[in-house]
Amino acid sequence: MIIILKPEATEAEIALVVKKIESYGLAAHISKGTERTIIGAIGDERVLQEGPLEAFPFVEEVLPILKPYKLASREFKPDGSIVNVDGVLVGGRQVVVMAGPCAVESREGLLQIAQYVKSGGGRILRGGAYKPRTSPYTFQGLGEEGLAYLAEAKRATGLPIATELMDSRDADAVYQYADLIQIGARNMQNFKLLTEVGSRRKPVLLKRGSSSTVKELLLAAEYILSEGNYDVILCERGIRTFEDATRNTLDLSAVPLIKRLSHLPVVVDPSHGTGKWHLVSPMALAAVAAGADGIMVEIHPHPEEALSDGPQALLPGTFETLMSELRGVAQAVGRSL
Ligand code: PEP
Ligand code: MN
Repeated sequence: MIIILKPEATEAEIALVVKKIESYGLAAHISKGTERTIIGAIGDERVLQEGPLEAFPFVEEVLPILKPYKLASREFKPDGSIVNVDGVLVGGRQVVVMAGPCAVESREGLLQIAQYVKSGGGRILRGGAYKPRTSPYTFQGLGEEGLAYLAEAKRATGLPIATELMDSRDADAVYQYADLIQIGARNMQNFKLLTEVGSRRKPVLLKRGSSSTVKELLLAAEYILSEGNYDVILCERGIRTFEDATRNTLDLSAVPLIKRLSHLPVVVDPSHGTGKWHLVSPMALAAVAAGADGIMVEIHPHPEEALSDGPQALLPGTFETLMSELRGVAQAVGRSL
């Protein structure tokens, strides 16, 4: 249920509504928009029927949220959310480019790629230290050593770090170094892990599971939000379909669809979405045209030697060209890069 307060409602009145909601054993989530404050009452809201909140003169309207995800819904927060990743704002006017290697492979390699990202105009450095590999016999990531290299790359470039957390047992280490905690496609419905990142205070990049619907993605986000962490960025990274010419089928219609259903920022990962480097730039441009708040791409100076995902890695020069093309598309849709 959402309680829409009148624009002139004071802090004391907001507190009164929260107290009332909590007295019924429900959780109150406050969303302060530019115009007015909305309070979400989460739990079995039927109890609220006994004490109608409409009776408060500063309450404008009480509405049921019919969607199964409530805090993630656009109704709860009509203005889009802006997530602050160590100073980089995702969800605002600027389209944010996150780039880097699939996996952190070596100190020198990462520092070099970080410089390419920085000089190309990327805003966030990505790189996996814990890799969710399909085969247990392939490179699994450098673990904490990789995290330390990411920290060094951040010191050298000033770029915030996005890296994947696969398991709660690694949470303390990952939280020590990362600015944006990536939950990978394979863990989108690892509800314990979602609860873990929901109870901590760093922004989360939640990737869509390869067999998940948009509704399931939003419900996964709801797990994080309902723990009190509202800093969630959603990521479309392709879904599995009958088409096998590409690694996944990048569902770009999910971008405007999610933006309509939810206030959360949406980024697109055309690297995993296509699996082919020559499809990455066109789909990145299309993603921005479709309204994406950001792009995540993989880069490698020697894709043929990459320990993972070489076929989808952009060469630094291709990344640079993509960045200048993205600038034009961003401008055309009223955004900047
Ligand atoms: C990644 O971004 O490194 C990754 C493994 O992506 P996904 O979880 O989307 O497969
Ligand atoms: Mn990858």
